[in-house]
Amino acid sequence: MAPPPNSISSRHVAVIGAGAAGLVAARELCREGHTVTVFERQKQVGGLWVYTPNVETDLLSIDPDRNIVHSSVYQSLRTNLPRECMGYCEFPFVTRPDDDSRDPRRYPDHREVMMYLQDFAKEFKIDEMIRFQTEVVRVEPAAENSLKWIVQSKSSRGVFGKDIFDAVVVCNGHFTEPRLAHIPGIDTWPGKQIHSHNYRVPDPFKDQVVVVIGNQSSGRDISKDIATLAKEVHIAAKSLMQKKESADAYKKESSRYSNIHIHQTIDRAYEDGSVVFQDGEAVFADAIVHCTGYKYRFPFLETNDYVTVEDNRVGTLYKHVFPPALAPGLSFIGLPSMALQFFMFEIQSKWVASVLSGRIKLPSEDKMMEDVTAFYAKLKSLGIPKRFTHFLTDPQFTPMFKKLKPHEASLISQYEYFNWVSEQCGCSSIGPWRVEQYNIAIKKNDDTYRDDECDDDDQLLEEAYRDFAKFKPSKVCSTHCH
Ligand SMILES: Cc1cc2nc3c(=O)[nH]c(=O)nc-3n(C[C@H](O)[C@H](O)[C@H](O)COP(=O)(O)OP(=O)(O)OC[C@H]3O[C@@H](n4cnc5c(N)ncnc54)[C@H](O)[C@@H]3O)c2cc1C
Repeated sequence: MAPPPNSISSRHVAVIGAGAAGLVAARELCREGHTVTVFERQKQVGGLWVYTPNVETDLLSIDPDRNIVHSSVYQSLRTNLPRECMGYCEFPFVTRPDDDSRDPRRYPDHREVMMYLQDFAKEFKIDEMIRFQTEVVRVEPAAENSLKWIVQSKSSRGVFGKDIFDAVVVCNGHFTEPRLAHIPGIDTWPGKQIHSHNYRVPDPFKDQVVVVIGNQSSGRDISKDIATLAKEVHIAAKSLMQKKESADAYKKESSRYSNIHIHQTIDRAYEDGSVVFQDGEAVFADAIVHCTGYKYRFPFLETNDYVTVEDNRVGTLYKHVFPPALAPGLSFIGLPSMALQFFMFEIQSKWVASVLSGRIKLPSEDKMMEDVTAFYAKLKSLGIPKRFTHFLTDPQFTPMFKKLKPHEASLISQYEYFNWVSEQCGCSSIGPWRVEQYNIAIKKNDDTYRDDECDDDDQLLEEAYRDFAKFKPSKVCSTHCH
């Protein structure tokens, strides 16, 4: 499909999802002069931060006919980054001393993040653009060579809608469709299995022997949460045992819990209830909790295979945002994971909004394809698996990428990506205090880091609040309050 002419400056744009990505996309699109309709299947804004005690009936979320529960947030969840660097640039995530119901901590609970997103929606009047309880069920180009898009939706009352837009921005989130570990023998293993998507509280695991697979943020939090009530928690994680220092650091981190044990990955599960790890140890377990991540899924997209998901690579996408053959009419905000998410949503949204208005030009379809093909080839030559295509990080802190040379590491560096996108839309890239604060935060992995009264980033906090003064929304405090 040919790219649309650049002369059109204001477009009618559909945004799918009113989570952190969709909200800021709506703001940036409006600022650029577009008219925006946001489709949101839940009753309120906030996306995955809208906690619900409800879980899916199938705790592994395999059944295609199950009722999908969007949120993967567990009751005890607190942010894994300090609020200052986690929030949007132009709407700082500061405390609300005027409101007693708010959580003033630097690593606040999930409810505080949801309320921050509600404040954002109110401040920028995004609520008025949202069709709540309306699920997008199909998105497709209006016709061959047409520059329009058809969006079909279904309200919670079963009313179907069909609208035509100039462009569609997909912000449907990617933490709802579980990825499961493959465990030989699991079909006849008699215990209970659950994915972290359906984990809320430790109570069902009281006095049980539990195996937790994975030790990323959720795996770490959930294993400790369960350890408060379970008899034993056995963590199975490849990355932990590959390097002695990782294992030692993690043992130290969980030293408060005498009932947490660390193992290699699972070798096999048996009919008698035992689970054998690759280190040769075995336990009789009551439950296995898969903290093994999520898959991208766009069940509503009909693009004639211009957009595909293969081994968790959403292809073909130019800079994780535009499918060359359908750009700029179709775009995706928020696909890269492990990055400073809200900051990334904000700059990607600015880029999309200004490309749609014609203020910024994309390269030709061929040039974009060339760029993506070269990117995929480089990933392959560095031995980075397809499923890590959208993995952006700070390579120096990610054990798996530490061995990359600087020019190779730039491929997956979140900062390189932020700088590139910011440059496209002529906005400031990430500030040094935000980078430093993030770097300090992700190195902290002991048990109490969220409540540490440490002064290692006091100077950065001062800088952050000086920066925030430029974007002071109504009713927020102008100095940092612990
Ligand atoms: C357990 C967990 C903890 C996390 N903790 C942190 C943290 O501490 N800090 C951090 O920065 N990031 C964290 N993240 C990352 C998280 O991805 C981002 O913070 C961010 O909130 C994701 O926003 P999103 O808008 O991309 O997706 P979501 O928040 O998932 O929003 C997507 C929205 O789209 C809607 N939607 C989906 N499909 C449709 C459809 N067909 N029609 C209409 N609406 C639809 C959904 O209802 C939802 O409201 C965490 C992720 C998880 C899973």
